[in-house]
Amino acid sequence: MKSKTSLSHRSIEPENGVLYLVGTPIGNLADISQRALNILEKVFLIACEDTRQTKKIMNTYKISNKLESFNLHNSFNKIPKIIDSLNNGKSIALVSDAGMPGICDPGEELVRRTIDAGHEVICIPGPCAAITALVSSGMPSSKFIFEGFLPQKKIEREKILLEISKCEKTTIIYESPHKLKRLIKELKEYCGGSREIRVARELTKKFEEHIGQNIDELIEFFNNNEPKGEFTILVKGNLNKKNSTIDNLLLKEELHELVSLGLTLSSASKYLAKKNNLSKSVIYNMV
Ligand code: SAM
Repeated sequence: MKSKTSLSHRSIEPENGVLYLVGTPIGNLADISQRALNILEKVFLIACEDTRQTKKIMNTYKISNKLESFNLHNSFNKIPKIIDSLNNGKSIALVSDAGMPGICDPGEELVRRTIDAGHEVICIPGPCAAITALVSSGMPSSKFIFEGFLPQKKIEREKILLEISKCEKTTIIYESPHKLKRLIKELKEYCGGSREIRVARELTKKFEEHIGQNIDELIEFFNNNEPKGEFTILVKGNLNKKNSTIDNLLLKEELHELVSLGLTLSSASKYLAKKNNLSKSVIYNMV
């Protein structure tokens, strides 16, 4: 029997008053769709994070168009101008330096304001480091948590790390090379050295690598190999949830007992942290 192919699809030509979110390569310039190139060539204007970065794609595919910088610093002024152009029936494309706009890159606010102004937003999908790393990790991929870059503020960071330590789903994290070792150390403190982890390095590029079995092994690897390039980290869900919840409850009980015996919260946490090979802040966060 002949299989049927659906022919009803969106036009590959830009439509008036539409904002196009165009996914671009995360390293390998061949990873861009025909439709994306067509839209980039024919829209009225391309709003891009860094014009030099977008020019590389345009030059590779020998297309030209007007580029305008759109980033976190100038978006406050640029959004009303883009909405004005859409109101005047122009079509606009938004691209980031790499991957999907709006994923740890500018785009979210513009999309919301465009929808509020009554315009259509159409995404031309492309690569995303998080999804590319997840599907090639061998970890459960049907349910996952995307954390992006972890917050730098201590309290917020510790809260997220604690959530990751308990989370049953695969967690995806972005991190820059010079902060990677610190992150892995923290993950050890919160999740333990035996938690399964995978680091995807330089996805789609010549030196693509998928490193690690567990956190201890990864620490050793990066002690011998300085992190270079771009990294996406995948932490396997806590499948011992039941046990760890019981452990946490016992720890809390012990903590309360020590405090009721006269120890300060700080010294009780310090004592329990040492005894259980955990960081003091992990114990603090339990209360
Ligand atoms: N918008 C992008 C996306 O859709 O994936 C993410 C942009 S975010 C500013 C950049 C971070 O994504 C990097 O610091 C790294 O953690 C991750 N990343 C981007 N390209 C990557 C690659 N080729 N290999 C591994 N991770 C990558």
